[in-house]
Amino acid sequence: AKADGRSVYRFFEMQMDSEARERRLLEAELRDAIANGELVLHYQPLVSAKDHQPTGFEALVRWNHPIRGLVPPAEFIPIAEQSNLIVEIGDWTIEQACRTAANWPEGLTVAVNLSAKHFHRSDISTVVKKALAISGLDARRLEIEITEGLLIDDPDAVIAKLAEVRDLGVTVAMDDFGTGYSSLSYLLKFPFDKIKIDRSFVDAASDDEVARDILRAIASLGKTLKVTITAEGVETEAQAEFLAEIACHQLQGFLFARPLDAVELPHYLMTHVPT
Ligand code: C2E
Ligand code: CA
Ligand code: CA
Ligand code: CA
Repeated sequence: AKADGRSVYRFFEMQMDSEARERRLLEAELRDAIANGELVLHYQPLVSAKDHQPTGFEALVRWNHPIRGLVPPAEFIPIAEQSNLIVEIGDWTIEQACRTAANWPEGLTVAVNLSAKHFHRSDISTVVKKALAISGLDARRLEIEITEGLLIDDPDAVIAKLAEVRDLGVTVAMDDFGTGYSSLSYLLKFPFDKIKIDRSFVDAASDDEVARDILRAIASLGKTLKVTITAEGVETEAQAEFLAEIACHQLQGFLFARPLDAVELPHYLMTHVPT
């Protein structure tokens, strides 16, 4: 049977309406979420590729919604990015992560993901300085992770802000390396301290020699540029072995630990970090 064009159109129109409504609802709820303390950070360990000892943690935000349950960042960060909420979330995350990390054993680092929109709309170095002062965390224990999308519009302004943060002694990492169009050219524009290889390469390495060659090349690039190389999404022993062999410095992934909540984290520290 031939579909009735008009009714199909009406169907899409109604669906669009309900999606837009759902978005508006989420945005309104997100506004309250911050005030109500519904945002939480989970922490996923990064380990040394050599001995699998933890070197630090990446803070990953979740929304503990009273009805929806634990909402992953992919579902609310894009909504937050369309308003000033991303600045509020980012500021909160930096301060919260610094406060938490200040209680960890000496030397463990904490990495925070920052959205491009947040970067453009606020004075990041002031926020970072304040969080370090409030928490007493040594700047060398804080890392900022940014994806290359950050550098697409107005790269000069972003680079100036990144340089200010780096001048504080904070580590600046390029996240999801290799997934964008210009990952390599950004290495020319800014002296990143660290590269995080996207997990799609780690995934492919299991049965693809080309992916393994690319990983070898990135590792050797890291050596030349004296940049720390981290691989994310490590799920198997074979991947961990290969990445250590090609001299990646740090590994992160479900093989070692999933992101840990406030109950799991102290337990992990107790069992994995010698005191
Ligand atoms: P990302 O920065 O690439 O973070 C790594 C994501 O991969 C996390 O998902 C983590 O749980 C997941 N992951 C870690 N190990 C493995 C593994 O072995 N296998 C697989 N399949 N996945 C693994 P999550 O927590 O859902 O975060 C998704 C993305 O949301 C992050 O990607 C980051 O871009 C963004 N995000 C998370 N927290 C924040 C935040 O506080 N602020 C901003 N702006 N973005 C955030
Ligand atoms: Ca990240
Ligand atoms: Ca990543
Ligand atoms: Ca990612």
